[in-house]
Amino acid sequence: MEAPTVTGVASATGDGGLSALLSTEFLICPSGNKFYSSMPWPAVPFSDINSKRSLSHKFQIEGIPALIILKPGGGLIQTEGVEILYRYGLQAFPFTSERIAELEAEEKRKYASQTLEKLLAISGKDHMIKRNDQVTFSSLVGKTVGLYFAAQWCPPCLKFTSRLMSIYNHLQERGEEFEVVFVSMDRDEAGFLQYFSGMPWLALPYGEESSKALARYFDIQEIPMLVIIGPDGKTVTKGGRNLINLHMEMAYPFTEAHIRLLQEKMDEEAQRYPTSFKHDGHRHVLNLVSEKSGGGPYICCACDEQGLGWAYQCLACGYEIHLKCGREVKEDTGGRC
Ligand SMILES: [Zn+2]
Ligand SMILES: [Zn+2]
Repeated sequence: MEAPTVTGVASATGDGGLSALLSTEFLICPSGNKFYSSMPWPAVPFSDINSKRSLSHKFQIEGIPALIILKPGGGLIQTEGVEILYRYGLQAFPFTSERIAELEAEEKRKYASQTLEKLLAISGKDHMIKRNDQVTFSSLVGKTVGLYFAAQWCPPCLKFTSRLMSIYNHLQERGEEFEVVFVSMDRDEAGFLQYFSGMPWLALPYGEESSKALARYFDIQEIPMLVIIGPDGKTVTKGGRNLINLHMEMAYPFTEAHIRLLQEKMDEEAQRYPTSFKHDGHRHVLNLVSEKSGGGPYICCACDEQGLGWAYQCLACGYEIHLKCGREVKEDTGGRC
């Protein structure tokens, strides 16, 4: 195949804007490169560092994958191409803000009319299972339901499943109207059955398409994910996993007002933590940070789980832990690396 020239690309985009950013005279077409040869589109040659640098600079690329969408005139349409494609797929075309606003409005309408029945209809199944028994959807009416997207092949899922089980058992003992429905992202039915045999809650019968349909509906991009549905059938939060990691069973019933209360309590508690300390698992001094002072979502280096908001953070190397996971170094032992 003949390599398209930059002039060719630039004339296709009208104003030559792209060519101004490229230092070589051509783009290459798929060839021997292992990764790139699977792509059907042209590429900037691997050796053309200048072009890569100027494109990264121009579009302020900070993380990959990044997908920048340009207009037929060369002007910018979207810098968030990756997120938009994940979220809306092909429907997002032509990626303009008008099209995205339309899709967002559609989504809002869809979520506003959501009921548990409609939700489970998306899965195409007409019952759930618990151990070997069939359970009807009507048994969930009036309950807070956690839709649990997970798979046996995913190590963070195994870890979170055991935490969720202990929370679930606590809430059952307390007589709370809470149920979990496992939506398997396992690659085959054998994996599902094996994983589910150790779970105390309900599951949708295995089906790749039904799980995928629900995952698409909730825009699930990573697992494990715990979507909380309120007794009225509306989504309370997709952040059930994070809330459980932060507050354990106190997170129940996961409503915004309840979480705000917990948050205020945490803010108050954080005042009592030292602003910096030497942690038993790290060689640098850690500083207390909140979401407002440089913290953000993180993975706790002590317990490997997600965290959000308050944390102890190492400014030197990014090490970050939950407040509750910090153990102070005992004077006589000194810190480990
Ligand atoms: Zn932790
Ligand atoms: Zn450090």
